[in-house]
Amino acid sequence: MAYTITKLCLNCKDIACTQVCPVDCIYEYTGDDPTIPKEMLLIDPDECIDCNACVPECPWEAIFENDLVPEIFKEDVELNARIVGQPRVVPTRPDKPMPTPEEVAENKKKWGYT
Ligand code: SF4
Ligand code: SF4
Repeated sequence: MAYTITKLCLNCKDIACTQVCPVDCIYEYTGDDPTIPKEMLLIDPDECIDCNACVPECPWEAIFENDLVPEIFKEDVELNARIVGQPRVVPTRPDKPMPTPEEVAENKKKWGYT
């Protein structure tokens, strides 16, 4: 089934999710394909073991089980799958502050997800 990181992660990339993923299947794309974003992280659906550990850890509430991805972010399921077999790294954590509840709400509003 796997999990998907939605565009709510775009430009956030605090990397909290990678700290708890037991199989290191959350990646930053490092290749040259402009259709695969580098400004957000992506989950390899072939490696994800559906443990749910990343969901409560994400301060931006950007991660969903595939069946529960909101309609507005449905295309992100396929976007995450594009990371399979691509050049990529598991990023290390930058020194980035956690967002406030207001910032999380504003980010959702930006994408029309309320
Ligand atoms: S914790 Fe959430 S917002 Fe942060 S990098 Fe992971 S998916 Fe993106
Ligand atoms: S559900 Fe578990 S295995 Fe899948 S990306 Fe999240 S932490 Fe990793």
